Amino acid sequence: MSGPVNDESRLRLTVLGGSAPTPGPGIGCSGYLLRLGRTAVVIDFGPGIFAELQRHFDVRSLDAIVISHMHVDHVLDLLALRHALAHDPVRPLRPLPVWLPPGGADLLREAAAPFDRCDAVGRFDYWVRMREYDPSAPLSLGSLTLQFAPTVHDIPCWAIRVDSVVGAIGYTADTGPSADLSGFFADIDLLIAEATLTGPTADPSRGSLTPAEAGALATACGSNSLLLTHFWPSTDRADALRRGASTFKGRIEVAQPGLEVEIDSRRRA
Ligand SMILES: [Zn+2]
Repeated sequence: MSGPVNDESRLRLTVLGGSAPTPGPGIGCSGYLLRLGRTAVVIDFGPGIFAELQRHFDVRSLDAIVISHMHVDHVLDLLALRHALAHDPVRPLRPLPVWLPPGGADLLREAAAPFDRCDAVGRFDYWVRMREYDPSAPLSLGSLTLQFAPTVHDIPCWAIRVDSVVGAIGYTADTGPSADLSGFFADIDLLIAEATLTGPTADPSRGSLTPAEAGALATACGSNSLLLTHFWPSTDRADALRRGASTFKGRIEVAQPGLEVEIDSRRRA
């Protein structure tokens, strides 16, 4: 675990999970730690992510947690976080900003209400400062600027593009192939793409991608590299990697907790 470091030349992704819709053995659901200089942001906070995050970074030093959509496998550890911040004797210096999609704050307060009734310490938003982002506007978090684009999913969901002076990372969140995200992700350095599906893919309105579709999206947007994620616990990762590589010829990896990917401005120059 570490706090902020002051290296403005490296944009670092630390993968915190990659399983869906439940944690798998040794791997939590969706969560990605991004660090640049003194800025540290986690995108999505599904079950298993809080435990893995503590191997890499002190949650109290985060600039923010940002949530793509309100499915359980992307948000559930916010409840664990709330309990931790309320009871841990090491207090955060300030309430932790949690940026939710529109409508997310009420949903999370409703989810937390039963736990508030059996916990005398405090309400959900005592140490967690819940806010809702405007998907049509950029969100500036320290050295990182986030933008949002709607995906095709069974509830409202936003893909996220993260820009910095060092480089750019795209995250599909959960999406089907009919979302047109290639322009939104144009010329990024790394695409984090869900690659959930292993079975038949005939339904054009479905809300998830195959590994080959994730690879095709990375190719279409001109990404240098691709990280496949959001796999069923039973998915054969090596097979997913092969299928992703059938449509993308750059560097490609599958999500595993602790995997680090760096974008280095000196190497880009
Ligand atoms: Zn989802």
